[in-house]
Amino acid sequence: MALDSAAIRAEFPCLHQSVNGRPLVYLDNAATAQKPRAVLDASRRYYEEINANIHRGTHHLARAATSAHEAARETIARYLNATDPAEVIFTSGTTDGINLVASVIGLGGILAPGDEVLISTLEHHSNIVPWQMLCERTGAMLKVIPCHEDGSLDQEAFRTLLTDRTKIAAFTWISNAFGTVNPVREMIAAAKSAGALVLIDAAQAAPHLTIDVQALGADFVALSGHKAYAPTGIGLLWGKRAVLDALPPWRGGGEMIKEVTFAKTTYNELPFKYEAGTPNIEGAIALAAAFEFMESVGLEVIGEHETKLIRRAAEGLSALSGVRLYGPDDRAGALSFGIEGVHHYDLGTLIDQMGVAVRTGHHCCQPLMARFGITGTTRASFAVYNTEAEVDALVTAVDKALSMLR
Ligand code: PMP
Repeated sequence: MALDSAAIRAEFPCLHQSVNGRPLVYLDNAATAQKPRAVLDASRRYYEEINANIHRGTHHLARAATSAHEAARETIARYLNATDPAEVIFTSGTTDGINLVASVIGLGGILAPGDEVLISTLEHHSNIVPWQMLCERTGAMLKVIPCHEDGSLDQEAFRTLLTDRTKIAAFTWISNAFGTVNPVREMIAAAKSAGALVLIDAAQAAPHLTIDVQALGADFVALSGHKAYAPTGIGLLWGKRAVLDALPPWRGGGEMIKEVTFAKTTYNELPFKYEAGTPNIEGAIALAAAFEFMESVGLEVIGEHETKLIRRAAEGLSALSGVRLYGPDDRAGALSFGIEGVHHYDLGTLIDQMGVAVRTGHHCCQPLMARFGITGTTRASFAVYNTEAEVDALVTAVDKALSMLR
């Protein structure tokens, strides 16, 4: 089914503006996506109609806010095909979720000196640094799956790196820098059969793919709302109930307790065990609205539309002289490129003058950039509301900028 671009775009108020006298062409969606009215309305309605702190209030508004928050958790659990809403822990985003897991694995005494944590060359700093910090604390070793020249992971090396010392494997589903889509189902199965716990960074998968946590078979899936049409400051960590139940609590405070005395505290059940303090109530409600928005358009329709755009962009850009595209041909979400003799920052600044918003730099993937011997790339990234005309505007703008820079 084709997408009704005009109708979709009408739902996104922020798209309708001029930048530097040109209509905005927003192609920085891998950094954060614009928000549809359904999400903005959910946020506003929460504050206008039912704002109150949740869970312990007896008054009307507190009960209404609590119901809306927990209904959002149920909607999200259904969206992710989780068996139990208690497996959905609200976080502030992917970074927060990964830090939660790395921290409780450390506190749980799962890693001994010489054990291994396996990540990949494609990872965002958020899926590198928490594991490095954990390794420093525990004496475990960080191992890294290498990638091929086309930006796909070396699956043979991955199988060799998996040993009985691999206690946790954490890798991204889609690379934010190159758009590489990893074969996560197979990778998860291999890591599970080696006895490792597995975390999937779904920050870039969430806006583009159906996430079925049962079919995936990982232990943890972390994502951010803001890349998937929800507000900033909300995300989630899905974790298998048996695994989360066996892990210790993390941050201490209100909500995560059953009973507190000065002598001893007992802890709450999931999901509250990992939700200390007043949560982002409006964010959770808006995240559910964002998932419902994507469902209403259809994840397959979104995926097909974006693939068409990304192929058109790849074709158009690779026809320009000196352009190198990074990542394999079947990339999703993002298209990264470099241009001989042109700094990505200069290019990004010039095309912004023409109304085209892209991201330039290392994309929080410095080790990946180092692997390719570059300091950064220019990255165009796509969402449901982008159009073929916008792809053409990108290619024209890059072409024009090149004639100015060379
Ligand atoms: N992982 C990936 C693959 C990402 O693209 C990002 C955001 N660029 C993150 C993790 C971190 O997400 P956040 O900043 O929303 O926590």
